[in-house]
Amino acid sequence: MGNEQHQKETLYIHKGYQSIEHHDSLSVPLYQTSTFAFETAEQGARRFAGDEAGGIYSRLGNPTVHVLEERMAALEYGEGALAFGSGMAAVSTILVHLTKSGDRILCTRGIYGCTFGFLKIMKEKYDISHDFATLATEEDIEAAIKPNTACIYIETPINPTMEIVDIELITKVAKKHGIPVVVDNTFSSPYLQNPLELGADFVLHSATKYINGHGDVIAGIVVGKKKEDIEAIRFSVQKDYGGIISPFDAWLLIRGLKTLHVRMERHTKNAEDILTFLKSCSLVENIYYPFDEDNPQFNIAKKQMKAGGGLISFTVKGGMKTAQKLMNELGLIKIAVSLGDAETLIQHPATMTHSVVPEIDRIEMGITDGLLRLSVGLENAGDLVEDLKQAFSKC
Ligand SMILES: *Cc1c(COP(=O)(O)O)cnc(C)c1O
Repeated sequence: MGNEQHQKETLYIHKGYQSIEHHDSLSVPLYQTSTFAFETAEQGARRFAGDEAGGIYSRLGNPTVHVLEERMAALEYGEGALAFGSGMAAVSTILVHLTKSGDRILCTRGIYGCTFGFLKIMKEKYDISHDFATLATEEDIEAAIKPNTACIYIETPINPTMEIVDIELITKVAKKHGIPVVVDNTFSSPYLQNPLELGADFVLHSATKYINGHGDVIAGIVVGKKKEDIEAIRFSVQKDYGGIISPFDAWLLIRGLKTLHVRMERHTKNAEDILTFLKSCSLVENIYYPFDEDNPQFNIAKKQMKAGGGLISFTVKGGMKTAQKLMNELGLIKIAVSLGDAETLIQHPATMTHSVVPEIDRIEMGITDGLLRLSVGLENAGDLVEDLKQAFSKC
């Protein structure tokens, strides 16, 4: 019984699992095992030779993890997926897979802090360099590609300024040069944006965020357009680097995925209500939200995203002093990094997620001392607006 013809919302709940193969268990069983027992020596030999399907050792594959991978591949319209023990294990594995000594990686300005840290390691230890460029027009992209550019690595919306990068435009130019494109899709989740459909070769997620959605797992996912690429990574870099996910964390992600579509719609609706409030607030200077009609990039956002999602950044008058005062006056909204949880979280990028970025680069990226990033949760929107209102009234 194939279920490929079903819509996304159905696949979130059913893809890659048949109860009949698991003692009729409705819920995907948790195979919390490190290894698998072979019936005979010959069977073990066949499994190692790849002549027979079945378990060998959980670093090479696990039935619970396998359901998660099949489901994620379907949700991102890829042929295969790999699950990892963190978003950074996913990032580092794909970048190691796509490069060799002497290569360059082309990135948009503004990438996740630890991805930047990993690029630094690659450059200092292995002679794999990187370039940052704006990549807003075809000319920008052509000018940024060098003879030894091995891959293009982008995030959109860019954290925390919510700048949008045109995925289709970049993949179109990259194809002319035969360069693979990797998109970190963490901020949108597979429900709002599907980079493989827009021409990318790999899409990755910090599954810690919206995919899990409950703030209790660190995990990562890579989805590939081609099955053979994913299987090549599974039996080389992933196996030998070893950044795999635990079966229990995979089980929690399967549980989280079942409500992804419902959660994303509520995150978005709550964010829209907060956007309306922030626009009426005299202490707010700038607001950054993909689906804000005043956003100059609204058209690109609409072209590639289903909705604006749950992240809003904004700057307050009075810089750091007001920003910190506002955070301290909040009650319901928690001060924490991470995003995509049921709880609404606020953080101050200049002193938290982006404190490692030198000030001059930070300002150029638009991360000023008055900038705050809200990850809007699933609480009652009125309660969230009330909390912001009372905190602003004290600033
Ligand atoms: C959190 C995050 C990561 C890293 O993921 P971890 O699960 O924390 O390792 C990578 N990219 C983006 C955009 C993130 O938000």
